[in-house]
Amino acid sequence: MRQPVVPAPPKIGVDIPWVVSWSEEAPAGVGPCPTVDGQVAALQAWKPGQGKPLNARNHLRRQRDSVRAMLCPMCGEPTPDDDRWSRTGRFVAAGVLRARGLTGALPADLDDDRVLLDCGSIAPLHFRCTPAFERALPPSLVTDPDLKGFPPSWVVVPLYVEARQSVTGKAVPAVSFLQVVGITNDRDPDWRSRLPQV
Ligand SMILES: [Zn+2]
Repeated sequence: MRQPVVPAPPKIGVDIPWVVSWSEEAPAGVGPCPTVDGQVAALQAWKPGQGKPLNARNHLRRQRDSVRAMLCPMCGEPTPDDDRWSRTGRFVAAGVLRARGLTGALPADLDDDRVLLDCGSIAPLHFRCTPAFERALPPSLVTDPDLKGFPPSWVVVPLYVEARQSVTGKAVPAVSFLQVVGITNDRDPDWRSRLPQV
């Protein structure tokens, strides 16, 4: 008798990025979180591998861990300084990011013409992990042919959601994800021409 073909379950770090949520990982309100030095952050159950992987949804805690500790979003292991890569990151001048509202988040002494590598919520990956990671991403995100080396310095920008305190019902800001922005040594003298049109 022929054996039925049972597909192997998807493996974290091989088929499924370490950073994504699984369907059993329910939101768990807000509370202090070490990923943001004890600030209030959005929390989520930690049960990787349980239920179904939700490729389009980062796990709140793992995403913050990945940026805070420079962990590869695919395998969850630390990336060394000389092995950090991003395809989805975009080069953008500091002045343009400030015009988009990141004013307080960038160091005040960073010139407006300094070119940054805005990686959004996707921490840089090991070179060896990029093909598997990109297979798991929506193709619309993997359009840039250039795999960019992540610069040796960067800033982390917390993104906030509004949460309600359970006792008082008062609105409090809670960190959801962390945005990571690399700081290159390049300058863009024409950065003003790239400002958003008003
Ligand atoms: Zn990796």
